[in-house]
Amino acid sequence: MTPFTPSAVSRRQWLKSSSLVAGGAIATGSLTPALAQALESNGPHLENGLTTPAGFAAHERMVEAVRRADGPIRLASNENPYGMAPSARKAIEDGWKQHSWYGAPGLPNLKKIYAQSVGVPEDHIMIVAGSSELLSIVNLAYGVKGEILTAWPTYEGLPRYAETLGIKVHKVPLAADLTHDLDTMDKRLTQAIDLVFVCNPNNPTANVTENRTLRSFVSSASRRSMVLVDEAYHDFVTDPSYTSCIDMVKAGENVIVSRTGSKIHGLAALRTAFVIARPDIIARLQPLSTSAPGVFGALGAAASLQDTAYQAMCKQRNVEGREIMKTAIAKLGRKMTDSQTNFVFFHTGMPVDLVQKAMLAKGFMIGRAFPPYTDWVRISIGTPDEMRAVAAALPEVIGGAPKSMGSSGA
Ligand code: PLP
Repeated sequence: MTPFTPSAVSRRQWLKSSSLVAGGAIATGSLTPALAQALESNGPHLENGLTTPAGFAAHERMVEAVRRADGPIRLASNENPYGMAPSARKAIEDGWKQHSWYGAPGLPNLKKIYAQSVGVPEDHIMIVAGSSELLSIVNLAYGVKGEILTAWPTYEGLPRYAETLGIKVHKVPLAADLTHDLDTMDKRLTQAIDLVFVCNPNNPTANVTENRTLRSFVSSASRRSMVLVDEAYHDFVTDPSYTSCIDMVKAGENVIVSRTGSKIHGLAALRTAFVIARPDIIARLQPLSTSAPGVFGALGAAASLQDTAYQAMCKQRNVEGREIMKTAIAKLGRKMTDSQTNFVFFHTGMPVDLVQKAMLAKGFMIGRAFPPYTDWVRISIGTPDEMRAVAAALPEVIGGAPKSMGSSGA
């Protein structure tokens, strides 16, 4: 097996891929006709047309070459392998002269664009410096005087920060299918609980909890407590039965929804995220915020939100990469969750650190352990070609029958 080792990318290679765009010589891959048409009619955002199918394919090749050169391939933090949209990059480059400024004149515009995109009035939106900041703020606003209820494992930002503040966190183990155990969560939602945290789709498990049951739990819980629904991976979901909880915000319930610029928009380094909640809740959260995205976060996110063609392209490629992984894991006979995100979570039967080391030797950086699922592994979705290389490497690393189902037993 040839390791997926980093290879140097030269400026000449980069230019070659760009010039192929102009010549229209790049294969457009397996785009559906409808998406291809939507992308073409949306028009190029840059002179070289990177958001046309041909342009995106060239962008993909350039990205793959750069990621290899930087190697090992980053598949550990659920980042967007394609990075920010070219239109976002252009907005940032155009705003370059503001780089020494405090504050961001673009924030009101970003708020307006975001409010329109999710269909709420602007007073229902708060922009934060990454959703991690929101998780801290919500702890301060709703957690400090009471206790917190969450499924476990889940995204650790909020519970970890709460415990640092000395807040008691009730962690309800996931159900056997690794979705939220909502019956038990409901029973544990006593008067002592002031804040319920729900991450849907969940990280690290990648799956969504059955929609009707989840919505009924959120709605009922919100009559007894504040509920924060983290929808960081909303944009990658393809399960038609899934819906966002933003409509509950619109209905005036005690629900806060968080979304991020770090995933489909590829802006993790720019620390930009969005909070959707009732105006009185926003008014309680806003004074606790100690920072906000700077000039570049505001400009980049505003451009990216309007670049629906680029988002559609990233989503489609993510689905392709995800399917490659699902097929490979099924072939190996391993249990996995139904990923609705930009990562997969599956049983290997081996301690995660051994899998990590073996994959690193083959050129891939993959996710860490998420106790108690220490013999399951999380791998982020890169480009389809990268996932084909991962799929080819996996049998050598975890091949054969799983050694045990581990302590998780799920
Ligand atoms: N919420 C979830 C569920 C995540 O998985 C992550 C990052 O991986 C975050 C929030 C953090 O997002 P941000 O980059 O906006 O802080």
